[in-house]
Amino acid sequence: AGVLYIVATPIGNLDDLSTRAAKILSQVDFVAAEDTRHSGRLLQHLGLSKPMVALHDHNERDRAGGLIDRLQAGESAALVSDAGTPLISDPGYVLVRQARELGVQVVPLPGPCALVVALSAAGLPTDRFTFAGFLPAKSGARRTALEAWQRETATMVFYESPHRIADTVADMALVFGEDREMAIARELTKTYESFYHGTAGQLLEVLREDANARRGEFVVMVRGARDVEPGGDLDVDRLLALLLPELP
Ligand code: SAM
Repeated sequence: AGVLYIVATPIGNLDDLSTRAAKILSQVDFVAAEDTRHSGRLLQHLGLSKPMVALHDHNERDRAGGLIDRLQAGESAALVSDAGTPLISDPGYVLVRQARELGVQVVPLPGPCALVVALSAAGLPTDRFTFAGFLPAKSGARRTALEAWQRETATMVFYESPHRIADTVADMALVFGEDREMAIARELTKTYESFYHGTAGQLLEVLREDANARRGEFVVMVRGARDVEPGGDLDVDRLLALLLPELP
């Protein structure tokens, strides 16, 4: 049977494509891509021309079966997404799940992944982190989603688009508090790569004042809540309420 290779591709700098990825892309029978035109350019850059199959969120359920048939018939394939590691806020889960269930060999080729690249240089704790992908687009739903993370103690990592970056950070300042430590990685591996670090309130100010800071692609990182908050207002109030009736 053929092999399904999961191939990470660059998130902005073509030099980040691994030698192994280039080799496997040249060897497979076909490439399953999120956007065949986009990935076609990558193959062209490598001097390759390969049959391609579109596999995106809207057709993955329909297409996966046919792709598995081809793998079981002996063809090998590479799954790529537009940028970074497939399945990470990108298509591929249904295909990999089915491949595993049916005993097709799945081989990952490691490479760029925006969340890991961002964390590796942001200066926030990395011993424990939780990846939450994209938040809801609408503010009400977004705040509700953020409220569920309010007491999370691990570093939180989100993906965000330029249209919503300022609104999302505003909601974070609201839900997590203006003083919560945050970092934003923008345009990783590209010409205008930048890191912003500060409190939620400070980052909101930067985003509001600097239009350039709102352009491009973003990874938003939020430091976890402190584990215990003995000095927190809430605890003091609660403690007083408990103790007052006991006082002589
Ligand atoms: N599979 C990709 C990965 O491995 O990172 C993520 C795909 S997701 C559809 C696209 C999002 O990833 C963007 O909206 C942005 O939040 C983040 N992203 C991708 N490339 C980036 C970059 N060069 N700089 C900052 N964020 C990036």
